[in-house]
Amino acid sequence: MTVYVGLDDTDSPRAMCTTFVATELIARFRTLGWSLEGYPRLVRLNPNIPWKTRGNGALCLRFGQGEASSRPAGAFRGWTARLHNSDGTAVPGQALFRAAQETVLRLADLDDPGTQPGLVVTRWRPGERLYWKAVRGVVSLTEIAADLERVDFSFAPKGSRGLIGALAALAWRPRDRTFEVIAYRDPGRWGTPRRLVPPDVAGLEERFPRTFNNFDRESGHMAIAPRSPCPVLFGIRGEGPEELPAALATVRGELLDRWLLFETNQGTDDHLVPRRVDDLPTHTSAILEGRVRGPPRTLPGGHVVFSLSDGAIVDCVAYEPSKSFRRVVRCLLPGDRVRVYGAVRAHPRAINLEKLEVMDAAPGAIKRGNPRCLACGKSMKSAGRGAGYRCRRCGTRAAPAEARFVRAHRDLVRGVYEPPVSARRHLSKPLKRMAGPHEAFETTRMESAKMSIPTSNKSSSIVSAGM
Ligand code: ATP
Repeated sequence: MTVYVGLDDTDSPRAMCTTFVATELIARFRTLGWSLEGYPRLVRLNPNIPWKTRGNGALCLRFGQGEASSRPAGAFRGWTARLHNSDGTAVPGQALFRAAQETVLRLADLDDPGTQPGLVVTRWRPGERLYWKAVRGVVSLTEIAADLERVDFSFAPKGSRGLIGALAALAWRPRDRTFEVIAYRDPGRWGTPRRLVPPDVAGLEERFPRTFNNFDRESGHMAIAPRSPCPVLFGIRGEGPEELPAALATVRGELLDRWLLFETNQGTDDHLVPRRVDDLPTHTSAILEGRVRGPPRTLPGGHVVFSLSDGAIVDCVAYEPSKSFRRVVRCLLPGDRVRVYGAVRAHPRAINLEKLEVMDAAPGAIKRGNPRCLACGKSMKSAGRGAGYRCRRCGTRAAPAEARFVRAHRDLVRGVYEPPVSARRHLSKPLKRMAGPHEAFETTRMESAKMSIPTSNKSSSIVSAGM
């Protein structure tokens, strides 16, 4: 009999991390004879929830009593947490629940006004539907009322909101999954600057090719280390659990207090729903297909915007922190067929781009000169911005599209593009994962695209032939 423990919302921007509370629960349950059954689950929920602390992560732990397997799930000072095969006899009693309650009360940052811890200890768990709603939409407390009635124990010492995440984490049935090993700092160092050896982090993906999102080559940022003052030293993400402890051992820096392996929905794109422009609810993330409507514009602050049309029109924004990704967006021309992935922004309504697929680039054209007057053969003059041309001699007018164009080579290569590592969301599937067995092909496409993307906004002299 598996006992599920769901946990959420114990941390605040200034302290704690719910994954650390999970490590303490594992240590405490061990003293009561309960061990991990399957890897702990770190389940990211809707990234557009306004009241999240950071990455909207919730936890699901599975416990049982039985034979230890040889598979380690974590290491604490002095002992290894191994996965167990349940012998199917035990049920969770008050003692187990009390231990979980005490752990949450001891560690949660209850003084923070935004923190509303939620804890569930149960043999029954909600159906998968709750997970999909929680990762893609907004779940109300009314919607979880029936599920709460069915669980063995629940605890919410300060508002009930955390129970939404706790139940949604239990509801996750992985269709796609990745893993993350999280290393924790010695408590004496919490809040102090993290010490890691940058080349060890920069070389992680070369040493362990199945890991991803470790290091941002563009900025030199070590993406494995959080910026907040929480107990986490770093987390390494990868396709499978096997190589992650070995990867962790190759990163020098501080002495580790403990580490734990998590099964996660990170990098799966589970949050994205194919939609149309006229159906974009707020607090959701969407995949849209359409054509670029007008030339991309660079806004003050360096954000780059273009309009996408699938009949209705919406702006798509690549923000300044997405750095080189903006160069791809700047290369778009009206008429290009694209697929965009991103979060729906309410005011002003827009898509915050997480990925962009160039499906078909419209033929480009370079303007070679003003049109000649059909009446008198003279070269015409501009009649003002967007107003076409006018013959100075006889007054004949011509439309902007009547200028002389030659076909241009388009810089933009068909394929999927993504922001650099530091600007990616936890749930966004990296290109490396999208490519599957053709990983090298995707990387090549990305590289060749990078090479052919202009470094300045040179594309302004190129227009779509259709204009
Ligand atoms: P961290 O990632 O650092 O653990 P966090 O970003 O997960 O922190 P929380 O402190 O857990 O943020 O706050 C998120 C809150 O939002 C929780 O109370 C959770 O129950 C709730 N929540 C999460 N997803 C949804 C959803 N889809 N609908 C409604 N509430 C949600």
